[in-house]
Amino acid sequence: MGQIYNFSAGPSVLPKPVLEKVQEELLSYQGLGMSVMEMSHRSQYFEEIIKQAENLLRQLMNIPQNYKVLFIQGGASLQFSMVPMNLLHQYHHAYYVDSGSWSEKAIKEAKKHGEITILASSKEENYTKIPPINLLDIKSNADYLHITTNNTIEGTRFSTLPETGNIPLVADMSSNILSEVYDVSKFGLIYAGAQKNIGPAGLTVVIVREDLLGAFQKENPTMLNYETYSSSGSLYNTPPTFPIYVTKLVLEWLQALGGVTEMEKINRAKANLLYAFIEESSLFVSRVEVSSRSLMNIPFTTSSDQLNSEFLQFAASKGLITLEGHRSTGGMRASIYNAMPIEGVEKLVDCMKEFEIEHR
Ligand SMILES: *Cc1c(COP(=O)(O)O)cnc(C)c1O
Repeated sequence: MGQIYNFSAGPSVLPKPVLEKVQEELLSYQGLGMSVMEMSHRSQYFEEIIKQAENLLRQLMNIPQNYKVLFIQGGASLQFSMVPMNLLHQYHHAYYVDSGSWSEKAIKEAKKHGEITILASSKEENYTKIPPINLLDIKSNADYLHITTNNTIEGTRFSTLPETGNIPLVADMSSNILSEVYDVSKFGLIYAGAQKNIGPAGLTVVIVREDLLGAFQKENPTMLNYETYSSSGSLYNTPPTFPIYVTKLVLEWLQALGGVTEMEKINRAKANLLYAFIEESSLFVSRVEVSSRSLMNIPFTTSSDQLNSEFLQFAASKGLITLEGHRSTGGMRASIYNAMPIEGVEKLVDCMKEFEIEHR
């Protein structure tokens, strides 16, 4: 089998050295004769793994001491409910920025729990940009303001964060956590499904400022209360042990590479390579406004569905796979998360060039 580059939007590519390490340790973790999958979550070995995973994340993101790191299941989609259930307590009102399909889903769930004001929306523009936010529209009577830092499907990204004053900023960072440097202290809460930039599916990471905990209505399910996780070190019940273990390995890999600062440089180089080619191409175009372009998910298209499917076939024949755009947008989308090496993007650009020459 030749070299394959997988541009899947999620679950997505993992660093090859991590998969090799998993393979090496699969049957016998540290010579114990059992797999991490077969190990008690209360064992000293697993406790070590989960502690290390948390500590590595704290170091990599420079997470302040007054923030808790929680390992939860249910995906980012469960956070669409847990965030309002835990944080809508004083005003029962929150602001949401509608910047894409995932924020739309977050808004739909939040509305079940309180009053939601859509502060800004780019729906009318098919989410091809991050909507401008008028800070004067923000009154103080809100428990939080929710944004989606990177819109996975539409390929947009907030290049600056809204200044929310005393209102906690909540971010769905599922598709760009650890891809660029963020100042965690600017947020009240950050959440991310692991399967894009952190590790395997099955784990969701929540980073939350301590003072935002404690207002949960106790008649609601225990498993939906952040405090259940914060008071037990995410070990109230059985956590997704194997995904946490693989996540720990991914975080070690990222640290060895130089951390998020270094990763961001590589990610910018990768994205620039692809955007620069799209800009000069007479066949491939990006519909996303330049100032809103994502570093992680890059949708592009030719002039017809026919050419798009020919291109997808051509790319697949060269080992460049899962480049189909989301079913709602069509065309192509290259997801170039942390674990996608720059060689993969170079191969993609070469392949686009070759296709363009043949179809001029
Ligand atoms: C993938 C994704 C989700 C959904 O994640 P699940 O873990 O499948 O629930 C939510 N938000 C964003 C920004 C995503 O990229």
